[in-house]
Amino acid sequence: MAADLASMNVAELQAWVESQGLRTFHARQIFRWLHQRGAASYEEMTDLSKDLRARLPQLAPLLRPVIVEERPCSDGAVKYRFRLHDGLEVEGVFIPESDRQTVCISSQVGCGMGCAFCATGTMGFLRNLSAAEIAGQVEAIMARLRAPDGRRPVSNVVFMGMGEPLANLPAVIRAAEILLDPLGPGFSRRHITVSTAGLIPAMEEFVRRSPVKLAVSLNATSDEVRDRIMPVNRRFPLERLLAACRNLPFQHGDRVTFEYVMLGGINDSDEDARRLLRLLSGIRAKVNLIPFNPFPGSAFARPSRERVDAFLERLAGGGVSAFVRQSRGASQGGACGQLVTTARGRAAPDSKAGG
Ligand code: SAH
Ligand code: SF4
Repeated sequence: MAADLASMNVAELQAWVESQGLRTFHARQIFRWLHQRGAASYEEMTDLSKDLRARLPQLAPLLRPVIVEERPCSDGAVKYRFRLHDGLEVEGVFIPESDRQTVCISSQVGCGMGCAFCATGTMGFLRNLSAAEIAGQVEAIMARLRAPDGRRPVSNVVFMGMGEPLANLPAVIRAAEILLDPLGPGFSRRHITVSTAGLIPAMEEFVRRSPVKLAVSLNATSDEVRDRIMPVNRRFPLERLLAACRNLPFQHGDRVTFEYVMLGGINDSDEDARRLLRLLSGIRAKVNLIPFNPFPGSAFARPSRERVDAFLERLAGGGVSAFVRQSRGASQGGACGQLVTTARGRAAPDSKAGG
């Protein structure tokens, strides 16, 4: 198989370059072009010799995601559709806010976890993305948004698009490593968050091997409800999940962020808030409440604003810091859980969530 240079870290790239009889310094040049400048082809790498630029495409074809559609939403978010080298497609969303600019990226084509409230879940699992395809989404968006004054267009990255990142652990760890590299985009570790549905062994391995932040999608306060809306709960039920969260071997004393999708009449009662407080006791937790984003065919309802506020107040009253995340990008189906491409990789034409 041809080498996938854009999935390599600098050390691996150096070893590859040397194995081809090339000079070691070319590795840093190529890494910079790929990950700092988001180059889409070797042709752009103007400080490599003409001869080398001509040889590299045969030696190591570049497998980078290409933006094929860009859809601005009314709230300022921009949804991007990427085509992969095999024709499949994934999505990412750019979310500008006053204090940060976040890019939400995909880690798999589809998702095999089957959560009942999630559009991506309805696609099933098609394949894992490579590290190059994961980091490349951020790099392509940054290249697209680069301001003439050189200002950094993206401050934060969240792995909350399509797919379960921790079911694609090696590629996700490598993509985070590339995004952190000062020779690449150079993000701060505190500004990258990987979100998981709760794969306990992979969570433990992840925090040991990667310094970036971890969020866990809790989404229910009883096994009965969580079993129903997140099949992963049958393998890793709530008590075990929370015990694991209490003991995660974080390298930097981080704390877990919990996400909680609020489904009207399902998990948004005062009783749920009380149970949530009980579950979180002893964990220095932060909770992000995400009111459900409907998509065509979805069987759940968004909770009322009053319900969300009451839930929030109960959590705050119990000493848990909680925030409401009004998902952005909803008008173009770019909000949490609305990301879906069809099995052939084309945007679903009939769906608000498509594209
Ligand atoms: N697979 C990972 C990351 C992608 S999903 C995970 O599940 O954590 C990112 C977030 O979107 C998760 O917290 C998920 O619970 C939430 N989500 C999924 N579908 C949603 C929907 N329809 N409305 C609101 N949030 C949703
Ligand atoms: Fe997959 Fe996350 Fe959607 Fe569940 S919520 S189906 S884990 S992407």
